[in-house]
Amino acid sequence: MAFESLSERLNKALKNITGQGKLTEANMNDMLKEVRMSLLEADVNYNVVKEFIANVKEKALGQEVIDSINPGQMVVKIVHDEIRELLGTEDARLHFKKTGITTVMMVGLQGTGKTTASAKIARYCKDKLQKRVLLVACDVIRPAAIEQLQTLGQSIDVEVFSLGADVGAVETARQAMQYAKERQKDLVIFDTAGRLHIDQDLMNELSEMKQLVEPDELLLTVDAMTGQDIVTVAREFNEQLAITGLVVTKMDGDARGGGLLSVRTITNVPVLFVSNGEKVEDLEAFHPDRMADRILGMGDIVTLVEQAQEKLDMEVQEKTAKRMKSGIFTFNDMLDQFGQMKKMGSMQRMLGMIPGLGNMVKNLDDEKMNDSMNRSQAIIQSMTPYERENPSCLKASRKNRIAKGAGVKVMDVNRLISSLEQMQMMTKMMSSGNMPNMASLQAM
Ligand code: GDP
Repeated sequence: MAFESLSERLNKALKNITGQGKLTEANMNDMLKEVRMSLLEADVNYNVVKEFIANVKEKALGQEVIDSINPGQMVVKIVHDEIRELLGTEDARLHFKKTGITTVMMVGLQGTGKTTASAKIARYCKDKLQKRVLLVACDVIRPAAIEQLQTLGQSIDVEVFSLGADVGAVETARQAMQYAKERQKDLVIFDTAGRLHIDQDLMNELSEMKQLVEPDELLLTVDAMTGQDIVTVAREFNEQLAITGLVVTKMDGDARGGGLLSVRTITNVPVLFVSNGEKVEDLEAFHPDRMADRILGMGDIVTLVEQAQEKLDMEVQEKTAKRMKSGIFTFNDMLDQFGQMKKMGSMQRMLGMIPGLGNMVKNLDDEKMNDSMNRSQAIIQSMTPYERENPSCLKASRKNRIAKGAGVKVMDVNRLISSLEQMQMMTKMMSSGNMPNMASLQAM
């Protein structure tokens, strides 16, 4: 998870000062030294760090802080606000034309996730903003890019326009615009070719395309894993093409986050989206204040709730909730819940957004949890419909059969049965209005 160690170090630095009743120049300097080291280690640009520290110092030594009831907490707030300042004070959004077709041109180096991001943004605009979207395959250089975009388009039910790899990108873009007009699309997203490094050929081709398309948004994808290179790449693309926004990809990796923290200040181009996984739904609109909360380990509960609302099947949730209220929880309910949990994606990432849990869940092993969930699903799927609803019928011979069917040991089946029994006990207590007490919870 990006920002993990930055978050940890900043928290440590700030913890020392929050307890201080009085701020002195000495304890302030100690804290600032720590904050400075944390930022530099997270690979934040040196000049950005210098300015950051100077700003915090100036504000923290201001009269208001010295006189405030809790100067330590006040300093934490100053650091938080400065981080938000780095990330951009306002939420940046895609600008849509009032009438006619809005055009978005995606650019970026090869492998940064441009094609994937094109599809993710298409899905986002179609599902959340009810836009009629056309994706255009203008990356005619990378061999599999057209096919990749077509497959992605199919999976999100968005039309993909392509003239194949033999027709140039500019001509493809020209015909795509015509096609989009005829089909009354609202939004056209052009996926363009990348290169491994910035070169003039690429820039010339993109400039030519830009002249033709006159994009309303020119978005650059940058890979969070490349650290400060984000800044170099963004600066170069911006100088040559005047980009309007950034999409920072691979935030699910163990990027240190420095690139994301520096890029806005240095290029003055806002981050519009962050991408945090390989699936088409792994895209978030970027909210600087929420990200600042997340970096300072305060969690991001709003994003969590939004993702839950989007990804969970609310009908299933309501059905289970209703059954639980009547004291019922069977293997079928358990199976439904496993399905829902899988939809939510990485547990570590989800739990990490809950305030206070950020630092605790980093040892959680998503792979192990997934394996265990798969095993439990296989066990339930080996049961007959009757067994799933009536677990008390599960005696030795049935358990043997189920274990064989699921390719597990009888011990695993027993373990799942006792998990179900615990859930049933909780459900019954809740339905009768008796919340479980600590003693009964500890017995579990
Ligand atoms: P392009 O060459 O810039 O068009 O890059 P692609 O869209 O083909 O992406 C390159 C690789 O990065 C693919 O394997 C993607 O699945 C992967 N990828 C893209 N975005 C993300 C992301 O946010 N997280 C992770 N983990 N992988 C990503």
